[in-house]
Amino acid sequence: MNTIPYEASFDFAKAMDTQDPLQEHRSEFYFPQHDGKDCLYFCGNSLGLQPKSTQSYIERELEHWRTHGVEGHFRGDHPWMHYHKYLQPQSADVVGAQESEVVVMNTLTVNLHLLMVTFYRPTKDRFKIIMEAGAFPSDQYAVESQVKWHGLNPDEAIVEIAPRAGEETLRTEDILEIIEQHGQETALVLFGGVNYYTGQFFDLQAITEVGHHVGAYVGFDLAHAAGNVLLKLHDWNVDFATWCSYKYLNAGPGGPSGVFIHDRHGNNPALLRFAGWWGHDETNRFLMRKGFIPMTGAAGWQLSNAQIFSFAAHRASLDIFAQATMPALRKKSEQLTGYLEFLLEKLNQNEHRFHIITPKNPAERGCQLSVLTDEHGKQLFDYLSTNGVICDWREPNVIRFAPVPLYNCFQDVWELTQLLQSFSN
Ligand SMILES: *Cc1c(COP(=O)(O)O)cnc(C)c1O
Repeated sequence: MNTIPYEASFDFAKAMDTQDPLQEHRSEFYFPQHDGKDCLYFCGNSLGLQPKSTQSYIERELEHWRTHGVEGHFRGDHPWMHYHKYLQPQSADVVGAQESEVVVMNTLTVNLHLLMVTFYRPTKDRFKIIMEAGAFPSDQYAVESQVKWHGLNPDEAIVEIAPRAGEETLRTEDILEIIEQHGQETALVLFGGVNYYTGQFFDLQAITEVGHHVGAYVGFDLAHAAGNVLLKLHDWNVDFATWCSYKYLNAGPGGPSGVFIHDRHGNNPALLRFAGWWGHDETNRFLMRKGFIPMTGAAGWQLSNAQIFSFAAHRASLDIFAQATMPALRKKSEQLTGYLEFLLEKLNQNEHRFHIITPKNPAERGCQLSVLTDEHGKQLFDYLSTNGVICDWREPNVIRFAPVPLYNCFQDVWELTQLLQSFSN
């Protein structure tokens, strides 16, 4: 919980920045420009900023290709043949996993499908998928099409958990109760980690426990959680998870996706999956023989050889995370988002204009605050845009602000709220 006595002043924000142990990382990123100045960038939940190091990571691989052609697979410090392995230690740290439990491959929605191929195997008695209502559309489409692919009716097979009337976010007790209710018929619980719209961080450990208690698999889409909140996927006993790398993980547009598969599944070669040569036992891969023998761990779910340029960009950013460390980022994140909340509530004192739908409890949110606006919301958003703020607008009337601890600072938050104040004047 936050114990900092916040003050609504520029001097306070500046002092917080001066004592921020992560402040040096801000200068490792490029900021979009507005009127010759850095934008106030609050959109790292949508697309993280470009690390200045990304270019050299990609250029190194271009050079490697230029110099070695196909031999690049086996030569140099980072032979392409093993490229996915160079992302494993840092990815494991970001999501709280063993190295063997993670692998970077494909893109997020593709991986959701691949994971459901393994972990959604409906039977006559157990066929339901439980998810949060208002999940990201791609997840809804993926789940619905999987259900239909198995010849089932989405209206019967998909259970969506919605907030209570008059509430914006889910209560953990309701989630757990509904999973219990449908328990006997549930094949899979598939939840977001942090909901993209409300910013609510679900209790993944409790959801996993109750899901297992009723005999279902439990998986998470961590697109808005990876690099944002502290995760302990291994200890929480999560069955599987997947995330993208271009939001909080700054790997650039369309960047690759990460996958987590708990070791108790990763070490089970009998588990059904869609296979490809890169998931095949690497010691025999180039014998090109018939008969798929999976690698142990999440690596056994790989299909294709690594997409070197996008993986290189991902490495650039993961190396920054390895220096900053998730616990330090999370600590700053709670303070920074708490400060934004404090200043918004201050603006509300005169005239109630901003209704924050993201939970108040820091344990139930990441860095993002979703603000429900009044009827002038769209004008406010446009006003912010013309004044160099990059945030985003979600229909019907929500503005999402994500102060990202890796490159945002307290002065950014202060300046944003000064603009919000001037709009009302
Ligand atoms: C961003 C996001 C996606 C996007 O999927 P892609 O396959 O990477 O285009 C999917 N699901 C969630 C929850 C997201 O936040």
